[in-house]
Amino acid sequence: MAPGEHEQVKILLGAYVLNLLTPAERSGIEAHLVGCADCRAHYEYLRPVPGYLGLLSTDDVATLIDDRDDDRNDGPLDERD
Ligand SMILES: [Zn+2]
Repeated sequence: MAPGEHEQVKILLGAYVLNLLTPAERSGIEAHLVGCADCRAHYEYLRPVPGYLGLLSTDDVATLIDDRDDDRNDGPLDERD
């Protein structure tokens, strides 16, 4: 197995659980997960994330963005434009 492959898989797993990869990328990830318990554990860790994102309301997201932007001065998204 190529050095760094596990790191690359772990980076791509975020996009994988959000269904943002191409079919070829998905196949590569799935083939790797079959043979790699470490990356599979990382996948199991990330797998619920899309469900959690679905629980967020628009207000929750606005609050998170406000919190993140506390040290910046460009204001909430709905005031830009
Ligand atoms: Zn791996």
